[in-house]
Amino acid sequence: MKSNQNIRSDQSWHIKNVRILDPFTGVDSAGDLYVEDGHFTDTKKSHMTVVDAHGLWAVPRLTDMHVHFREPGQEHKEDLLSGSRAAAAGGFTVVATMPNTVPVIDIPALVDWQIRRGQEIGLVDIWPIGAVTKGSRGQELAEMGMMQRAGAVGFSDDGQAVDQARLMRAALSYAATLGCPIVQHAEDRNLSQGSVMHEGEVSSRVGLPGVPGVAESGVVWRDVELSLLTGALLHIAHVSTIGSLDAVQYGKARGARVTAEATPHHLFLTDQAVADWKTHPVTKVNPPLRPESFRQALLEAVASGLVSVIASDHAPHHRDEKSAPYLDAPYGISGLETSLGTVLTALLHSGRMKPLDLLSRMTVGPHRVLMMDYPGVVAGARADLTLIDPHHRWAVDPTRFYSQGKNTPMAGVELTGRAVATMLRGAWTMRDGEVLG
Ligand SMILES: [Zn+2]
Repeated sequence: MKSNQNIRSDQSWHIKNVRILDPFTGVDSAGDLYVEDGHFTDTKKSHMTVVDAHGLWAVPRLTDMHVHFREPGQEHKEDLLSGSRAAAAGGFTVVATMPNTVPVIDIPALVDWQIRRGQEIGLVDIWPIGAVTKGSRGQELAEMGMMQRAGAVGFSDDGQAVDQARLMRAALSYAATLGCPIVQHAEDRNLSQGSVMHEGEVSSRVGLPGVPGVAESGVVWRDVELSLLTGALLHIAHVSTIGSLDAVQYGKARGARVTAEATPHHLFLTDQAVADWKTHPVTKVNPPLRPESFRQALLEAVASGLVSVIASDHAPHHRDEKSAPYLDAPYGISGLETSLGTVLTALLHSGRMKPLDLLSRMTVGPHRVLMMDYPGVVAGARADLTLIDPHHRWAVDPTRFYSQGKNTPMAGVELTGRAVATMLRGAWTMRDGEVLG
């Protein structure tokens, strides 16, 4: 991307010769964009700084609705500043943060604090997801209504499931009255206990304890039924098994308000990566990487729209923690800075999906799940925009991540496509890979 002016020298921009891909309005056309005072405008003005964006895509409101920023309490892994910088570097203008910090985000004051700290940093909009139960202990419901009034966009005990069916039913009923979703990390811990990877041919070969897909899909089936019973919005986080996809389809066919998200790593990698990385726990993630047949089903579900959201489950950890033996290391992959490239490589350049449809999974999709409105690239709308070079080839180098978490099995992998500039409220937060602020 070429520009004749320095960064942030001006707050009005004329972005020239760009392909506008706007899943909010369905527009896919070449043209120019004008930004002034933080918003899109129809009017070209002479004082606007010209940015030649020939060959690039302009996409509004790239959103990652599942990230772990670890603050408060685990700032040695990530904090709101390093997480925000990783988001801007990855091309994102909105992230929804999971509440499994220390302490857990289960009261309105903590929701309010996260939002204000995010605004102070000013690199990405932070939408907190509050805990379903107090301390995410799965015993009694948290003050969801009060957290929503403070700005929480949904509720989850992510990291673990809301196990008890009676409590899950109550949570869904309560959330239904609030008009926001329960985001379920579907995992039967009784079945998954002690497991570190998917149970199958590879786990037998490498000799690590595995978990079968039913530990996830069993909970999804139950919750889909509870969603039908309560009429509540249920969102399944990081769906990864064929059985879970069948359950979501079953629910949708019967009118359940159920949605699901897939992660880039489940769309790109299989459990073979565990064998390839030998005993390095960089591939240890929950839910685990699955066999090729599961990955193909997931790709198909994203393409068909059964899965309407792609989210990274960005889970940074300290290097020392991820250097532990496979059995002891924490679960998670640092994903914000590889998400877009991985998704474009797996779904666009493979010919499976068209750009507008694919980008809807990272824009309109999460907005609908979280019941958030955004008009798209229209005059008067907030100028949150990502410029993407869809053909840029690059190799993943975690040492260059803005995230503190360098833990990724994507290291060295060649991807095609990446964000080259990110704009939040009309100001650049990243240009040419460099985060500004
Ligand atoms: Zn989770």
